[in-house]
Amino acid sequence: MIDLKYLRNIKENTEISHPENLDKKDDIQVKIALRNLGVIDSKNIDEYIARDGYFALYKVLKEMSQQEVIDIIKDSKLRGRGGAGFPTGRKWQTAFDYDVDKKYIICNADEGDPGAYMDRSILEYDPHSVIEAMIIAGYAIGSDEGFIYVRAEYPKAVKSLNYAIKEASEKGFLGENIMDSGFNFTIELRLGSGAFVCGESTALMESIEGKRGMPRVKIHRTAFKGLWQKPTVINNVETLANVCQIILNGSDWYRSIGTEKSPGTKVFSLVGDVKKSGLIEVSMGTSLREIIYDLGGGIENDKKLKAVQTGGPSGGCIPAKFLDKSVDYETLKELDSIMGSGGMVVMDEDTCMVDIARFFLEFTCDESCGKCVPCREGTKRILEILERIVNGDGRSEDIDKLMELCELTTETSLCGLGKSAAFPVISTLKYFKNEYIDHIKNKH
Ligand code: SF4
Repeated sequence: MIDLKYLRNIKENTEISHPENLDKKDDIQVKIALRNLGVIDSKNIDEYIARDGYFALYKVLKEMSQQEVIDIIKDSKLRGRGGAGFPTGRKWQTAFDYDVDKKYIICNADEGDPGAYMDRSILEYDPHSVIEAMIIAGYAIGSDEGFIYVRAEYPKAVKSLNYAIKEASEKGFLGENIMDSGFNFTIELRLGSGAFVCGESTALMESIEGKRGMPRVKIHRTAFKGLWQKPTVINNVETLANVCQIILNGSDWYRSIGTEKSPGTKVFSLVGDVKKSGLIEVSMGTSLREIIYDLGGGIENDKKLKAVQTGGPSGGCIPAKFLDKSVDYETLKELDSIMGSGGMVVMDEDTCMVDIARFFLEFTCDESCGKCVPCREGTKRILEILERIVNGDGRSEDIDKLMELCELTTETSLCGLGKSAAFPVISTLKYFKNEYIDHIKNKH
């Protein structure tokens, strides 16, 4: 039987594989979602327990009501780390409030931004932190079934999850009557085939239901009518990886990290023209300078920084003059970019910003599912103009045309992909318009 004594016994008698990595701390990073990466063996559930794993689940099932669990998450002000930054507790509350026979929990592990691999790493090296959080979310809203929608291109993460689900089931953390609480919960994997649009919640749900992964016209919130039209909570991997620590340490602790409106930490995959690329986790509110120069070691070959692109293909390019701005949801929005799922691409002085905009548009144009005209046609037309500008065939009216098309695509597309597809163009036009003009004048 699983009780506190059982968990404590494992915790006290299990040695973690890499305790030496716990001492490798710097002054900037704060690790919550990445706390077990490089520290435990992901194939040994006891090592996860040795790092307080499944203690949060015990606390929830034995000591807390469903509303108390939701309240602590609401009070923590944890926001979704998948892109939009929607308050997680509010999502849970909405699903909890509907009194129906069936509800679902979905973990969105369809990480598709070029250069981003935060979720993949968590799933590969700490899968139980996501599994435990899904069980807690299931208990909170009254759901007995969860799905993890993970990219088939992540075979190691799929293997790690399958192994962890089996281990958790065998130990009695998943299945029927978990910890003698009367609560049942199962988790199944669903593999996505690499369509970027399936990271959009309703397209992902269509895909789980066995249909073509295309976004739905959203009349209702998915927390009310989601998977098979039932209340569904969909959280991404990193969001879930924060949940157990909030349950164990409390909402005040969580809010003491980060900023008032963006509490906690954010994981970034720092890539591009930076000396030390890799995964980092910092408090919200850390400056771009600290991230790029202190953690990333500065720009390769000691060149000058030109811009930082955040938020993946839907993000914006922030010029170097904003290096001392902090990274949080509000500030990035002010700078015409977004947090997105945490891609951070550093670009040096030699980067052509028009070509960067073209690169991202090529990506979104390719990934547009074609369901609605503004995105299907708009991204193509924008890309055509960008290509001719980059190739030296730009026309004097092109900048105005680009602005008009970007506005139209943003305002009238059906889902987030189309609504944000033009952001790299909008931000480069705002901050690097001179490069567009130079191209058009055939200066390079
Ligand atoms: Fe599909 Fe783009 Fe329309 Fe979204 S915005 S539904 S991806 S065509």
